[in-house]
Amino acid sequence: MSVLVLGGAGYIGSHMVRQLLANGQDVVVVDNLVKGHRAAVAPEAKFYEVDIRDKKSLSEVFDKEDIEAVVHFAAFSIVPESVAEPLKYFDNNTAGMVTLLEVMQEHNVKKIVFSSTAATYGNPVHIPIKETDPQNPINPYGESKLMMEKMMGWADQAYGIKWVALRYFNVAGAMPDGSIGEDHEPETHLVPIILQAASGKRDYIEMFGDDYNTPDGFNVRDYVHVVDLADAHILALNYLKEGKPSAQFNLGSATGFSVKEMVEAARKATGVDIQAKVGPRRAGDPDILVADSTAAREVLGWKPNYDNVEDIIKTAWNWVEKHPNGYDDKK
Ligand code: UDP
Repeated sequence: MSVLVLGGAGYIGSHMVRQLLANGQDVVVVDNLVKGHRAAVAPEAKFYEVDIRDKKSLSEVFDKEDIEAVVHFAAFSIVPESVAEPLKYFDNNTAGMVTLLEVMQEHNVKKIVFSSTAATYGNPVHIPIKETDPQNPINPYGESKLMMEKMMGWADQAYGIKWVALRYFNVAGAMPDGSIGEDHEPETHLVPIILQAASGKRDYIEMFGDDYNTPDGFNVRDYVHVVDLADAHILALNYLKEGKPSAQFNLGSATGFSVKEMVEAARKATGVDIQAKVGPRRAGDPDILVADSTAAREVLGWKPNYDNVEDIIKTAWNWVEKHPNGYDDKK
């Protein structure tokens, strides 16, 4: 039986595919390649270029393949874009989930691990953030993902579809062998942007705001290595296979790093004197986002291997050095 990875050609999905294969699991990938890269998909996985909103084509994949569980990464995830184009997010993310749950129900597939986000919490009521804290998203991206979590809750009640929502904080790094990594167009995330400054693709990194209510004035985030994140999904699949109830878990490292500390760590990781300038704040950025991931550790048995941002950045730098132009499939 296979695990179906939706969005398996994307940054996190492609690492998930490799980790599943390394665990001896058969893998089927569905991706529409709007954001993903065909070259990121491990050759051992079966690949279908299908959009999850295309019910007929998605059903055909479920007809052909013997799917026991789904891991769902196929969503848009850029906050400012979601503010400018909310319906794009409710269409691909939220409506896409309706189609997926229908197809799962029709094919009697009852397990799903879902890529959720810290953005479902909105402005935190305290730090670190716990799973039981209020979820009041402040942008359409977070709202679209919260709606997806809620849909799974009702689909569980009605059809017995069991789910685990994994709420990610900040994800960084790359496969340590440098075979796959992060390649977004446009790139908006901190670590790849810092590394663009390190490799000469841009002159400097602009640090968004130095007047936050934090020890050094730069805002603080919680960074997790992408392979540790993928491993948490494997544990979540095992959890569901053991017949346990639907649940949600934060995935973070419990340690926060400021933007300035990240630039410092990247200077050490790369040996390059990366230039940084302070710019204005970016809209919608809270001071601090740090996860309480006790539940993932205690219930799923999650033990991240990377507890140091410099090591995380080193893996991302290895990917950048081996693939200065990212995947060679630019349109
Ligand atoms: N950031 C920055 N400069 C950049 C990109 C990001 O200072 O060019 C900051 C951003 O304000 C946030 C942190 O880096 O505090 C992480 O941002 P990212 O977009 O990577 O992830 P997010 O926290 O938005 O999911």
